[in-house]
Amino acid sequence: MKTGKYGDLSAAKQAGKQVYNTPEYRRARLMAMKNANYVCEFCASQGDIIVSDLHCDHIIPLSKGGAPFDTENMQILCRTCHLNKTKGRSLRAHMINLQNKKQKRHGTRA
Ligand SMILES: [Zn+2]
Repeated sequence: MKTGKYGDLSAAKQAGKQVYNTPEYRRARLMAMKNANYVCEFCASQGDIIVSDLHCDHIIPLSKGGAPFDTENMQILCRTCHLNKTKGRSLRAHMINLQNKKQKRHGTRA
């Protein structure tokens, strides 16, 4: 499902707002926080532990069809990292790292 460029962005943002107000989202966010041990995942990957001002970020944005309630599509970021991502500074390489890390974590658990 690919929508053209940014035509639907405002609609997606509206949909996003509804997502954040649902119990499903809050539950998933708690799970994601727990999975991340309540630290910024990006800073943690850099060897830094940030525990305050944490945000739950959708790795694939809702506007791009990311799953809103899937903890696999969530990462915990501190305010700075979240702002950097929102500003468009790509954290993609690090996100790939995080995803690898997550897969590994699942692998060892299974
Ligand atoms: Zn951070």
